[in-house]
Amino acid sequence: MAQKNADGHGVVLFPAPFQGHINPMFHLASLLLARGFSITILHTNFNSPDPTNYPNYHFVSVPDGLTTPIDDVVALVLSLNANCEAPFRDQMSRMRSERGGEPIACVVVDSLLYSVQAAANQLGLPTLVLRTGSAASFNMFVAFPLLWKRGYLPIQDSRLEIPVKELAPLRVRDLLRVEKSSPQKLRELIDQVVKEARTSSGIIFNTFAAIEGNELEKVREELSVPVFPIGPLHKLSPKSENSLMDQDHGCLEWLDEQAPRSVLYVSFGSLASMDGREFAETAWGLANCRQSFLWVVRPASVRGSAQVELPEGFEEETRGRGKMVKWAPQQQVLAHPAVGGFWTHGGWNSTVESISEGIPMLCNPYFADQMGNARFVSEVWKVGIRLENGLERGEIESAIRRLMTGKEGDEMKRRARHLQEKAARCIRNEGSSHAALDKLVDYLLSF
Ligand code: UDP
Repeated sequence: MAQKNADGHGVVLFPAPFQGHINPMFHLASLLLARGFSITILHTNFNSPDPTNYPNYHFVSVPDGLTTPIDDVVALVLSLNANCEAPFRDQMSRMRSERGGEPIACVVVDSLLYSVQAAANQLGLPTLVLRTGSAASFNMFVAFPLLWKRGYLPIQDSRLEIPVKELAPLRVRDLLRVEKSSPQKLRELIDQVVKEARTSSGIIFNTFAAIEGNELEKVREELSVPVFPIGPLHKLSPKSENSLMDQDHGCLEWLDEQAPRSVLYVSFGSLASMDGREFAETAWGLANCRQSFLWVVRPASVRGSAQVELPEGFEEETRGRGKMVKWAPQQQVLAHPAVGGFWTHGGWNSTVESISEGIPMLCNPYFADQMGNARFVSEVWKVGIRLENGLERGEIESAIRRLMTGKEGDEMKRRARHLQEKAARCIRNEGSSHAALDKLVDYLLSF
């Protein structure tokens, strides 16, 4: 079937200013550009993207009013919502008058920016919401009031192992939480996100039917708006450079020298941090497992220290089989034939990227949706293991061995390759994500 061309129809996209939200939104932007839409990116000052990477887009800054750093991520998102609404309205009026009445087909907003979405609706603009997490995590959002009513939330340490029968296979310990934030503030945020998603013209998900078919059905039952599952977005879209930090491409040359499937890639995403003891346990787990590894250690990885200090003796112990970088080209790393496993925090992008390359995972979730994602990895798709007792060198060592060597690891690799094939089928012509993208384009052209 011939693809429709949007012939310059304008779409405005507003990502939430976090790496894991910027990546999928820019992948969506490049897909829409390839289909002929003209792209305007709205962005905050905080974590603003570099426009020189995207000569084909128009960039508009929305002042975010942040004067001091906020390290509670829920408080940060609530502040962004409070601060960005009025500047967003101003920018939209300016854009509309500058365009001389040329219509904006639609505003695509990250679902975390609920106040922006509400403002766009009030201005009479159709809005689509981009969910950068899984469909399962969105179902958890929708169920939040019920989870409070039935006493699963706020989470109590004595109830961690209780199954949440309304959201099988999750247990209380797999529910959404953000350590530094108050449960009430988190609930306020989730309630707003769901309320605005219900009033949107549709929801776009970076997931695909072959892994989340049931979860997507549930979203469709709960919300009477169109749903577009078009993941894995990074595979469907033309390549684009979206990283906020410089990616160290030298690690790809190092990987070229390693044996096939021999390297464990270790990265805990852009936000997670650990304390000094956990960092030392992680380092010794890697040293003692005798496996080759590529470890991403962001400068802010260890709470309370500006500089990361490796434990004494670690470098000698891992010489010749360990490489550390501050930030990696992760999608290329996971696609490299030398990588055989991914020790991850279980962020949704990382999970989808790993599945897309058929790489089994060792999950060590920190906060937000990561615990739920880890549960799906280990219990539903069975392509990984979750570290159940936090960071302890003995458990890490044996979990890495289980993942990278032996029969259990082979089974996980086999299932991971199977999922990779399913992901590849979804994005082919006639595949479910490809079809959902065609529908999305038609839908945008109907506004
Ligand atoms: N990423 C990267 N280099 C790294 C680590 C991560 O480019 O060294 C990218 C990764 O490919 C993913 C994003 O950062 O697209 C992290 O998103 P995710 O949802 O996994 O975790 P978050 O950072 O939001 O916790």
